Amino acid sequence: MDTLEIRAYAKVNLGLDVVRKLENGYHEVRMVMQTVNIYDTLTLKRAEKGIELTADNEALPKDENNLVYKAARLLMDSCHIGEGISIHLEKRIPVAAGMAGGSSDAAAVMKGMNELFSLGISEEELCRMGVNLGADVPYCIMGGTALAEGIGEKLTRLPDAPDCFLLVVKPDIDVSTKYVYEHLALSNIKRHPDIDGMVEAIRKGSLQGVTGRMDNVLQSVTEREYPIITGLKCFMEENGACKALMSGSGPTVFGIFEEEGKANAAKKRLGGMQLAGQCFVTTFSPKEEGYAGKFTGKHG
Ligand code: ATP
Repeated sequence: MDTLEIRAYAKVNLGLDVVRKLENGYHEVRMVMQTVNIYDTLTLKRAEKGIELTADNEALPKDENNLVYKAARLLMDSCHIGEGISIHLEKRIPVAAGMAGGSSDAAAVMKGMNELFSLGISEEELCRMGVNLGADVPYCIMGGTALAEGIGEKLTRLPDAPDCFLLVVKPDIDVSTKYVYEHLALSNIKRHPDIDGMVEAIRKGSLQGVTGRMDNVLQSVTEREYPIITGLKCFMEENGACKALMSGSGPTVFGIFEEEGKANAAKKRLGGMQLAGQCFVTTFSPKEEGYAGKFTGKHG
């Protein structure tokens, strides 16, 4: 096999809590992660030597600053691969959005190279290696619905979350994850998300139980800086969403709808709103489908 085409799925956080700041500067978190049907496509091709990266997104770095490149380098070096690889990235996941786009691409490259070069690395080992690239990489390797603890790398697989429709909106603003965590005043947080209750609701298959507990402590920082996020959440809830929330450190906002028609109608109405940016109506991606590195084609 010479070429492999794979997908890298985006995630949203149905719940995000920060437990404490660790001495190494990282934060201990408790998050309910969910892959959604928005994905990048990566084509991996064996080459003679080196790493070549191309992408359909001009703004992204194509060198060692890209997580795709870093993931390829990590596998090349740790597995002493004597050949090279050329990778083409078709970017659909909004960038710097709180949807783990870069982490998912990295996870997909690791899984893809494992297959392409017949490395035989277990998923557990890939996760252990992947955390060096980013705390969300192990989850992206796993995909589906999961509880993520520690810095995000301690994963518990959950049953697929109940079916629903999502309106996902990435406003035209840039939010730095570092800035959000640095400005989070943990001692001021009076109400922490009920993560255990949400896990229970997922186990029971109750969409209402999930939406009733959707919360993200990072919103306190990002909404203060960017009122558009509050505006988008209100808009979605006034237009049929059971609940709307910011994903990760933002600025992406997603609303949960029981009916696809209502999600589409809200998307249409949003068309005229300034700064609305990229909009998608989508669904959760079940664990058999939604993980980084889902193979969609093999050649040669
Ligand atoms: P997270 O949810 O994990 O915080 P994010 O959605 O906020 O991730 P990304 O889209 O992963 O953020 O990208 C953040 C930054 O990383 C961007 O500014 C971008 O320049 C850089 N980057 C490096 N590699 C990639 C990649 N493959 N895709 C997107 N961004 C990348």
